[in-house]
Amino acid sequence: MSFDAHALANAATRGLRAYDPGHDLPVLRTRFGTGLCELGSNENSHGPSPAALAAIESALPDIFRYPDPKGAALKVALAAHLDCAENEITLGNGSHELLMLIAQCFADAEHEVLFSQFGFAVFPIATQAAGARAVCVPALPRVHATMPFGHDLATMAAQLSENTRLVYLANPNNPTGTWFGDAELLAFLQRVPAHVLVVVDEAYHEFVTVPELSSALRFVPQFPNLIVTRTFSKAYALAGLRIGYARSSAAVAGVLECLRESFNVNAFALAAAQAALADQAHVAKVRTAIANERDWLTQQLRVLDLFVFPSQTNFVLVDFARDAAVIEKSLFERAVVVRPMGGYGLPQCLRISIGIRAENQAFLDALTAALAA
Ligand SMILES: *Cc1c(COP(=O)(O)O)cnc(C)c1O
Repeated sequence: MSFDAHALANAATRGLRAYDPGHDLPVLRTRFGTGLCELGSNENSHGPSPAALAAIESALPDIFRYPDPKGAALKVALAAHLDCAENEITLGNGSHELLMLIAQCFADAEHEVLFSQFGFAVFPIATQAAGARAVCVPALPRVHATMPFGHDLATMAAQLSENTRLVYLANPNNPTGTWFGDAELLAFLQRVPAHVLVVVDEAYHEFVTVPELSSALRFVPQFPNLIVTRTFSKAYALAGLRIGYARSSAAVAGVLECLRESFNVNAFALAAAQAALADQAHVAKVRTAIANERDWLTQQLRVLDLFVFPSQTNFVLVDFARDAAVIEKSLFERAVVVRPMGGYGLPQCLRISIGIRAENQAFLDALTAALAA
């Protein structure tokens, strides 16, 4: 019997490839031990609020029980934090799951999904998995005065059609670090017809320090087709637990609830997220530290004559003006992990997460050595 599992997979799945983590981190950890400097995944080296860790411990004895399928206690806390109603919130196993869920609920083979070139990698995957047609809109030019490779919202608005069903925006964006302001978003939303949903992925929201960008949340009451996603993985430093949320109109949340797996968010994640949310002093401390390190690292890299993209996130994208694969390999031989960008069509770039000062210094030392070699 000749059995071909791939040929039997549905058309959407056949078009997908398994996630490539870039490096085998468990192997690297064994090789380098505590000397490994991990700046490849935009994690938050400051760690979570101690209150979040205590909440996980408190939840341990009840591990034999299913988690609350509605996540009611966390939704009450989030609703208060976001100043919205509980039925406008959808919880996800990371915001990645929510980005996929949104496409599964709203996109299909008859419709198009719009996103920007150099936008977040999950957007094309969610589109493909839903069997929808992807429309990838060219990013702003590399030589753009203020926002190189940023989302081109005017061109995206011009590409909206009868067939468009969904638009994914990331603000600030990963992997470019670029952003657009509230006024620009509002102008875009005003051009979006009612048969199109707009997702604004705000995974890096807490790291924003520029005044022109607050949050798309303020526009949700005015635009029932707007969905804002956030995560506990970055500023809250709970990436290992997998929890994120979406805020939308209650109507959109109601649709998402139909397909959401009943126990998609585990009990530890629910408890830890609630405790982490209550500790805004911790978030503020992290935010200040990251912003300071972001400025410092950017300046150090510019001293090395490298092009650093403007960033409002906890990472910087750096253009080495030559194939960066050699530099990347040389860095990880020196126990520093950063993210190669070939998969994004940016082979001359590397994305470096902002760590604590010791990590950022270790990266700079390794980079200086790698560039000299
Ligand atoms: C890291 C990241 C996320 C967060 O993913 P989680 O699944 O919540 O860990 C979402 N969007 C973007 C753009 C990201 O970079």
